[in-house]
Amino acid sequence: MKPFAVFPLHKKHDLVQVESFEHSRFLAGGTNLVDLMKHQIESPDQIIDLSGFEQAYDITDSEQQVTIGTMVSNTELADYAYQQPGLSLLSQALLAGATVQLRNRATTGGNLLQRTRCYYFYDTTRPCNKRKPGSGCAAINGFNRNHAILGTSEHCIASHPSDMATAMTALDATVHTCNANGETRQIPVRELYRLPGDTPHIETHLGADELITAVSIDKTPRGTHIYQKVRDRSSYAFALVSVACTMQVKDGIISDINLAFGGVGSQPWHAQAAEEYLRGKSATTELFEHAADVELSSAKGSGYNDFKIPMLKRTLVHVLTQASEHQNQHPEHEGAIYAR
Ligand code: SF4
Repeated sequence: MKPFAVFPLHKKHDLVQVESFEHSRFLAGGTNLVDLMKHQIESPDQIIDLSGFEQAYDITDSEQQVTIGTMVSNTELADYAYQQPGLSLLSQALLAGATVQLRNRATTGGNLLQRTRCYYFYDTTRPCNKRKPGSGCAAINGFNRNHAILGTSEHCIASHPSDMATAMTALDATVHTCNANGETRQIPVRELYRLPGDTPHIETHLGADELITAVSIDKTPRGTHIYQKVRDRSSYAFALVSVACTMQVKDGIISDINLAFGGVGSQPWHAQAAEEYLRGKSATTELFEHAADVELSSAKGSGYNDFKIPMLKRTLVHVLTQASEHQNQHPEHEGAIYAR
């Protein structure tokens, strides 16, 4: 049996014995893992309870960055981010993401690692390559209205469900990890997730024994923040399409922009091609439409979700228009405005 070296952080035990990390799961808030266990999609031999990680409940604020412990709840993080203009995007995404009850339980690390809400993933009577590799994908020719249009493969078209991860992708956050040997590393959130390819069951670049201990975000001025979420009902629901955007405009020119999409990608989608297309150019509606076309050139619908392609384009153009108009009127502004 191998001792798990991260556990000196633990208030109850110095070390916890873990038989096999492949067959174990870390438990944080449990808002996704417990559901998966009830549906018999996950049946770990061992649960590694993270509730005693005292240092993982802290938010620390330095001159350069904010560091959020992995066990910080979504409620606490939303409240904190709400008071920090430079984290407005994160606050908007978290508040749009789930009910108060869920936000009270859900944690920062757990939110990043939540699994897809593909209906067939949760239905153990249907084939699913993510749940059972090699069994097929019931969604590709099934009811795929909520599914992804970017980054998909012929083996899986599931979308990533997290609003928070979408905002953190736009904010270029960094994940801090530690493994069973006590080795630490830092991974940009933009590089945390894997595309499904022919192994959709492997969703991140984390090792089986690698724990997210914290997430940090640089305190860089980013201008106007907008998180626009389109969903089936105005109360809590997963995004059909969401756009996370920060933009700075100087003398009518887009000097800085960060963009990510939710609800449309097999991972929180960093819209890098659109960012590069927009940077240094004059903010016009025509430019925004071209930027959407550039980013969506590889988008592919699967039938019921074809509507997401024009919906994402319209949402993106709307958000970019709102952000640029606001920046033109308030060039020194840092923080959120409310998009409609
Ligand atoms: Fe499974 Fe992915 Fe297909 Fe959904 S889309 S059934 S998660 S393989």
